Amino acid sequence: MEKNAEKVWTNCLKIIKDIVEWQHFKTWFEPIKPISIKNSILVIQVPSQFFFEYLEEHYVNLLAKTLKRELGKEARLEYRIMVDSGSKSKQPLMMDVPGQGYKSYPNNEMDFPLIINNPVKNPFVIPGLKKMQIDPQLNPVYLFDSFIEGDCNRVARRAGKTVAEKPGANSFNPLVIYGGVGLGKTHLAQAIGNEVKRTHPNKVVLYVSSEKFINQFMDHSRNNAINDFIHFYQLIDILIIDDVQFFAKAEKSQDALFAIFNHLHQSGKQLVLTSDKPPKDLEGVQERLLSRFRWGLSADLQVPDYDTRIEILERKMKHDGLEMPKEVVKYIAYNISNNVRELEGALISLLAQSSLNRREIDLDLAKKVLRNFVKSSSKEITIETIQKMVCDYFDVPYDKLLQKTRKREIVQARQITMYLAKAFTKNSLKTIGEHFGGRDHTTVIHSCQTVKDLMDTDGVFRENVLELQQKVQLAAM
Ligand code: ADP
Ligand code: MG
Repeated sequence: MEKNAEKVWTNCLKIIKDIVEWQHFKTWFEPIKPISIKNSILVIQVPSQFFFEYLEEHYVNLLAKTLKRELGKEARLEYRIMVDSGSKSKQPLMMDVPGQGYKSYPNNEMDFPLIINNPVKNPFVIPGLKKMQIDPQLNPVYLFDSFIEGDCNRVARRAGKTVAEKPGANSFNPLVIYGGVGLGKTHLAQAIGNEVKRTHPNKVVLYVSSEKFINQFMDHSRNNAINDFIHFYQLIDILIIDDVQFFAKAEKSQDALFAIFNHLHQSGKQLVLTSDKPPKDLEGVQERLLSRFRWGLSADLQVPDYDTRIEILERKMKHDGLEMPKEVVKYIAYNISNNVRELEGALISLLAQSSLNRREIDLDLAKKVLRNFVKSSSKEITIETIQKMVCDYFDVPYDKLLQKTRKREIVQARQITMYLAKAFTKNSLKTIGEHFGGRDHTTVIHSCQTVKDLMDTDGVFRENVLELQQKVQLAAM
């Protein structure tokens, strides 16, 4: 039999009255209006958000106990908060929020997915917990300090700092950080979370990937618990959602995100989103969401320039206690240019190779390692390409290079070509020799040696070879 809200509330008040001081009772309990009761959930109307928070903070224990006496241990409380009292022409605006539901889980059980299998029926398990305790899912290594600033990321990084200083109370809400893979979106978004946790320890921060959010949503909708899902997220102070491009075409999840976004934004809570493209290009995401994404600031991360890449490498080495010759650092920064993750990857491969082979890190090793590493992004240079470049450079006809001419210019051009082919391709000496009219590998060895010797003794020759070397290097990128 359905109980009557009015009656249940009157009974609760009788007990509360005996416990709470008269003045407090008048202030905090008399203004409450019982609204409805269904499935052990009593809905009470309160005059403001502040009122709701005060009750939750100071009287949750008492409310829980009295309500359980009336409705049994399944009892739950929901608040209807008057957000705007309305006017003659306008209806008052109300918002429904659950009572101390998720707040009652001890910290270590607070990984939200747990709640899916164990939906919170009784909101008062541990009454009196003041702040919701949840694991913010942050990785402590992602900090502002370790995020090198450059022209490529200045706006995004500074906006991130502002957001972290005054979450919710700034004009960058939401802050949307976008850019290609491996450019630091996750790092920066997490740095905001970590900084807020450090400076505002009472704020509830949550980092979640879009995939996880969508999976959680689907689990909840299977269990008919979408409201629990949405309410949980509505309790967050700083919500960070990574890679929102994954919401494309996930219509139902978008609806949930929309509800959560609106609630948080209206209550002055902060949203931080990342995406692999600017909001306007996110196909498959509802326009109403996209327009909200554009309310705050969209800041992009670009490919870092050479100097920033050097700085990132040096910072990383310092952090890991590594040392290597400056020329190696320059070589890496020069050759790996489109992605910070690859930059770090190259550094790690180099380290691994050096310790596996018990070999010092030097330019030679770096070249070897990077050759495999950047294969996909760099062009494979062939012997023919080098031959043509040398011919162009010295203005020598291609067929002469291959014939057995003994003319000095041609001999030198041929030797330089072999030397470069040895340095810049993976071909064996035998193969290189075959490309010069069927010479054998000893000729190639001899040529390489001659070039080295001449470079030491002949300044002009040396200049020529270095200039050619640079051209080949550029062609290989
Ligand atoms: P994304 O999320 O954009 O794919 P990540 O945030 O995962 O990229 O960054 C990839 C790697 O590069 C991480 O290890 C991150 O720490 C590093 N990184 C990116 N940008 C910077 C930067 N400006 N300074 C230092 N490290 C960076
Ligand atoms: Mg990422």
